[in-house]
Amino acid sequence: MFASAKATILHADLDAFFASVEQRDDRRLRGRPVIVGGGVVLAASYEAKAYGVKTAMSGARARRLCPDAIVVAPRMSAYSEASKAVYRVFEDTAPFVEGLSIDEAFLDVRGMRRIAGSPRDIAVRLRTEVRRRVGLPITVGIATTKFLAKVASAVAKPNGLLLVPPGTELAFLHPLPVERLWGVGPVTASKLRDRGITTVGQVADLSEELLATMIGRAAGRHLHALAHNRDPRRVTRGVRRRSMGTQRALGFRRPNRTFAELEETLIALVDRIARRLRAAGRLCRTITLRFRFADSSRATRSQTLPAKTADTRTILATARGLLTAAMPMIERDGITLLGITLGNLENEFAGQLELQLNPQRALDSVLDAVRDRYGSDSITRAVLLGRDPGLSIPLLPD
Ligand SMILES: [Mg+2]
Repeated sequence: MFASAKATILHADLDAFFASVEQRDDRRLRGRPVIVGGGVVLAASYEAKAYGVKTAMSGARARRLCPDAIVVAPRMSAYSEASKAVYRVFEDTAPFVEGLSIDEAFLDVRGMRRIAGSPRDIAVRLRTEVRRRVGLPITVGIATTKFLAKVASAVAKPNGLLLVPPGTELAFLHPLPVERLWGVGPVTASKLRDRGITTVGQVADLSEELLATMIGRAAGRHLHALAHNRDPRRVTRGVRRRSMGTQRALGFRRPNRTFAELEETLIALVDRIARRLRAAGRLCRTITLRFRFADSSRATRSQTLPAKTADTRTILATARGLLTAAMPMIERDGITLLGITLGNLENEFAGQLELQLNPQRALDSVLDAVRDRYGSDSITRAVLLGRDPGLSIPLLPD
């Protein structure tokens, strides 16, 4: 980033969102450790976090860490209402609002100085307005890049405001632990720590090539850029990709696959692509299966749903139906590649919040968080596989 760049990107993130809504609505919960969700922790108040309670932790573990915690059942409709109200404040604050999830967004306030004051003035007002109109605490980070604004809000939490002045980005960033870099989970962090690399500054001192040998090419490139605060992404609500897909080559040696084998591959593909869909804040409408046969010919089968979704179960049910219908063709011609594409993508933050605020979606988010933290293989879907994965995550009621 050039030192002359202006810090106009705000990252606004509600603090302990679900738990804060509960404390707002029941004064007996204020100042107390509150856990939302019994089977799995969906949210924990800062009083509970102080005991080490974290989102996506099992409820049993959380209660061991914090026996005095008050456990409350989630109230999705209350969170949905609060989220919509907060987004109205965002929309009233800045012309460019890019939703990241139900409780956080990027706002770009460039060009607003004359009418609305400095980015810091705007952030102060945003926090006051969220408190006044919605009754919730929110933290705001301000910086020249999206990545750094998100780091700043994480450092400033809870109930804080932090501006990283232009020209001081690296001085701010480099002393921080590597875990602060976007995309560094425990797996990557431990690979780095094994080599004595604990701070962002140490990452910045490595060449991209050396970093790639430690953590892989894509991750190496990504972290190298972030450690130097290179993040050219603009805040946008414009049109983005219309589809996303993933596939798996099955090899030519054994094209006669059973339905059960293909179903297992399909579950893995759906799990991966649905995660990417949710991570990108998108919803899909059309599901397409792609097949390549032993003679290298190809075919697709697709289905368009009545409503947009980012729900793993819905996507899997549709994909499974398409696979079932294609089995005669597969048995006849032999299959060498199975792929899935999600199409008719839309941003979910265009008045679509209620769609992701159903309990199944909350479960999906928790599973995503578990895997972000512990790696993709840490958990499999017992409900989908019909087996005990060792770590049991109860399905939330529909
Ligand atoms: Mg938050």
